Amino acid sequence: MKKRGAIFLGLALMVSSPAVASERPRLVVQITFDQLRGDLLERYRPAFKGGLRRILDRGWWVRHGEAAHGLTVSWPGHATLATGLYPSHHGLTANEWWMEVRGRWREVDAADDARFRELGREGRSGKSVANMKGTSIGDWFKSADARSKVVAIGSDAAVPYAGHRTDSLFWYDGEAGGFTTSTNYAATLPSWVDRLNSSISSLPLSWTFSGDPRWLKLAAHEQRCPPFNSNAGFPHRYSRGERDRSAHSWIGSTPLADEVLLRRAGEIVRANGLGQDSIPDYLNLSIGSTDSVGHEYGPVSAEQLDTLVRLDSALGTFLDDLDRTVGKGRYLIAVSADHGVTDPPEQKCIHRVSTAEIEALLDRVEVIARVPHASRRALVAAIGRELERVPFIGGVYSADSLSHAGRSDWKAQLIKRSFRPGHIPNFPLWSNKDRPFHPARFGLWVTFKEGMIFDAATAVHGSPYASDRLVPVIFYGAGVPRRTLASGARTVDVAPTLAALAGIRTPPRLDGRPLLVETKR
Ligand SMILES: [Zn+2]
Repeated sequence: MKKRGAIFLGLALMVSSPAVASERPRLVVQITFDQLRGDLLERYRPAFKGGLRRILDRGWWVRHGEAAHGLTVSWPGHATLATGLYPSHHGLTANEWWMEVRGRWREVDAADDARFRELGREGRSGKSVANMKGTSIGDWFKSADARSKVVAIGSDAAVPYAGHRTDSLFWYDGEAGGFTTSTNYAATLPSWVDRLNSSISSLPLSWTFSGDPRWLKLAAHEQRCPPFNSNAGFPHRYSRGERDRSAHSWIGSTPLADEVLLRRAGEIVRANGLGQDSIPDYLNLSIGSTDSVGHEYGPVSAEQLDTLVRLDSALGTFLDDLDRTVGKGRYLIAVSADHGVTDPPEQKCIHRVSTAEIEALLDRVEVIARVPHASRRALVAAIGRELERVPFIGGVYSADSLSHAGRSDWKAQLIKRSFRPGHIPNFPLWSNKDRPFHPARFGLWVTFKEGMIFDAATAVHGSPYASDRLVPVIFYGAGVPRRTLASGARTVDVAPTLAALAGIRTPPRLDGRPLLVETKR
């Protein structure tokens, strides 16, 4: 945390600031990108001329904000952006985790809730925040004034932002034919969601580069070893030709659906009457395509460049619309991401960990686990020693070693913020087999060495290293000064900052703190 000029990053009570009270926004829009590393907006900035350009030029932009926890995957990252709590406190420590319930192990998905069903998909369970402890920013708006409207839409990462009391929550599921929800949120889709889905249904089933070709040089990078993905390069077309449910899933793997969502977000504002009175409303737009595209083609690729160029243009349309519908200076935008991503290791000829290597390691762990040991403690120590001697393993942690870790052990400090006993993820030791002796079931947490990823995708995130942790944190609009900072914001601070700027009370004991407070000196 740094103090710069009149901007004080730290403890403060915004609610009492008269300067802010007069500029209290009528609408807060939290735009959350899935997988957006801190350097990418800067790298691709020359190609932007729409909404991203506007908020980068005129907003409060921390280029390298931090998702300051150990397991940098989606649900923990989004729930942190939504609650102002670290994963160890909000409880969504991983996308899925193993839990022992009455002597039986079962895998728990962060948001799936079998008590409900998803609209438009036979046999698919619904989603909820039942596993999430505490409350989210959507709940804070509702608690401040029950007349506040709360709407969340985008990828299924919108779930934690919506919280417990949302008016509307919709997520894109290609198999369901577009944006949908589950029975605990709505019985049918409203007409404005039907209209969004009709627009997406009429999209062409091809994805071509939309930007100025001279900016393709921004996506150039070194490539010392043959690339992992040989499918890169425009144009991309849906191969099955006909417009079926798989076509909608294909659209979801491109930026095309998110582009429609952002470009037409003004209609969402009008249909739900957001930002029309002095009671602030909240809208979350969860952009998932940056994650699909980043995994498939890497963060520095023509595809990710085009994704951001399209979203920049669509966001420009939305901001112009907000200027007319809500009024300039009367709305507040926040942009951030749940995590960054590690470059494909082939770019620098770093070793990529293969599934076969992971399965062989887990086989050896199983042999150790089946040998009778004097105690469980001795067994866990033996498994730990086996893990530590593997060349691609960068660290092995247990509840015990984390509790004894010194403050200088930065990795242990980050992992503590992701750690709940009995909720240990099997990441990054993913297996295709049922593994009753997986190290996670012995409470062991593993990291790879820096730069090493497995072969599930071209680029992967999840590690505690800087590439996966650092993301942009941006605020723009009502009362926000123009400033660019290299660092000094965490994703856990985003929701408390939005609440403070909107004059909304937050629950006690949050991990995050409001940023961007004008000090009176
Ligand atoms: Zn993610």
